[in-house]
Amino acid sequence: MAIQLGCCSAEHGSRRETSGHARIQGGLVNKRDDIGNPPVSARPSQAEAEEAVRTLIRWAGDDPLREGLLQTPGRVTRAYTEFFSGYLSDPMEILATTFSEVDGYDEMVVLKDIRFESYCEHHMVPIIGRAHVAYLPEHRVVGISKLARLVDTYAKRLQIQEKMTVQIADALDTVLQPKGVGVILEAAHQCMSTRGVHKPGTSLVTSRMLGAFREDPSTRRELLSIIGNSTTAPLPNT
Ligand SMILES: [Zn+2]
Repeated sequence: MAIQLGCCSAEHGSRRETSGHARIQGGLVNKRDDIGNPPVSARPSQAEAEEAVRTLIRWAGDDPLREGLLQTPGRVTRAYTEFFSGYLSDPMEILATTFSEVDGYDEMVVLKDIRFESYCEHHMVPIIGRAHVAYLPEHRVVGISKLARLVDTYAKRLQIQEKMTVQIADALDTVLQPKGVGVILEAAHQCMSTRGVHKPGTSLVTSRMLGAFREDPSTRRELLSIIGNSTTAPLPNT
């Protein structure tokens, strides 16, 4: 069942196609970016982060000093390092190497069923789903593993799905300058299944179509038929 409601999505619908180019939100190593993240230099220390976890344990009603919880703050911060590794990688760098020897290949390139794990910026619980990333090359292509890494770079941050969809599409559009870009994300939001309205089995579908995918209905139909079977399959491990 695919429905669109609830948390961790923007308020005004999701399957909206937009044009124009948002500024690319790159790595956050040295600067404050568009989404308001502080520069890395302002990060709290490891000890401060672990103390914050102890505070949350106490707040939940348990004793952070009991044996089973003693190592938990360290484990949680290590998990967070993994969950939010996207802040330390730069999408522009990932896409920096492109190839122009494509022997005249000018049909669409589609990498589908890219599993991703992201985290809703409202509740900090997982958003798990898959991405389909397509573009219509104009002379240049990028290695396919880079498309998967691009998805991960934006997924491994605090996100809403709509924003992530736009970020992936615009990064690809900016670097490759292809004839078109199409990005479709479908994901289950644990803030909807494990809390709040408690609706497991729902998935949120978002898309961004640029260039030929936006302007040419037959190109868009071709993309949708290529990924069509995926969108009816259950989401992985949700
Ligand atoms: Zn949420």
